[in-house]
Amino acid sequence: MPFAWTINPYRGCEIGCVYCFARYTHEFLELDPVRGFEERIYGKQIAGAGLREELRKVARGEVIAIGTATDPYQPAERRFGLTRSILEAFAKERGRRLSITTKSDLILRDIDVLREVARANMFHANVTITTLDEALARRLEPRAPRPALRLEAVRRIAEAGLAAGVFANPVMPLLTDSEDQLDALAAAAVRAGASFFGGGLLFLKPCARAVFFPFLETHFPDLLPQYRALFRDRAFLRGEHAQRAKDRVARVCARHGLADAPVGYIPELWPSEPRQGELFEIGAPPPRL
Ligand code: SF4
Repeated sequence: MPFAWTINPYRGCEIGCVYCFARYTHEFLELDPVRGFEERIYGKQIAGAGLREELRKVARGEVIAIGTATDPYQPAERRFGLTRSILEAFAKERGRRLSITTKSDLILRDIDVLREVARANMFHANVTITTLDEALARRLEPRAPRPALRLEAVRRIAEAGLAAGVFANPVMPLLTDSEDQLDALAAAAVRAGASFFGGGLLFLKPCARAVFFPFLETHFPDLLPQYRALFRDRAFLRGEHAQRAKDRVARVCARHGLADAPVGYIPELWPSEPRQGELFEIGAPPPRL
């Protein structure tokens, strides 16, 4: 997803996906990136004067992405409401470009404030769904809402008049990357009202590999040698396999009439006076983000 600035209200994430790359952020704190990442969650109280001060540095055309590392609607959000408090601050802003990425239907709790945000700011909701296979999703993302609940979240976000899309991230070789799987997911996304679809490839930093490889060994032992070969000496998938997955994502987007990234638009109360640093002009065709 494109962005210039990020906000991650939480460090650590209870959802506990086996491919999660954000585990390394616990290593900075000299904490366990495996169980510690899922059990010791840190919240950042950033709404208020601090956020207003930070926003002074952000030009209007720059995208602020909430949830680039950890999920802003993970279970802790039910109790602490940090993401909601940030959105309430953005509801008072005008001319911002904001996105949220989540795999939780808890986002629906905030539809009211999201609608307020989206009246004067360009907003996109990116709902992550790696697979429609509920059993596989349960293994990959143990404490995430079921894929059907996430699709229902897309449907209700779109029904509320907000721009919604589905990210199949991370697309995992031999697990979720067949054309049939991606096609079925894109078709379900369209039925739910999504307007864009993305599929970033799996990458395995050492902290993610430490969880993912034992997961394969337990549940998909036949795949382990192929994964060892694909990720030998590197975290990012490259070459033929990576290109094939990218081509499949591009084909399913084209087949289902989905944009391959969030598409810009001009909100109802977008400020009419351009500011310095703005990346496009009011009245010009909506930019692709
Ligand atoms: S929901 Fe996101 S942040 Fe949380 S464990 Fe899964 S991949 Fe990591």
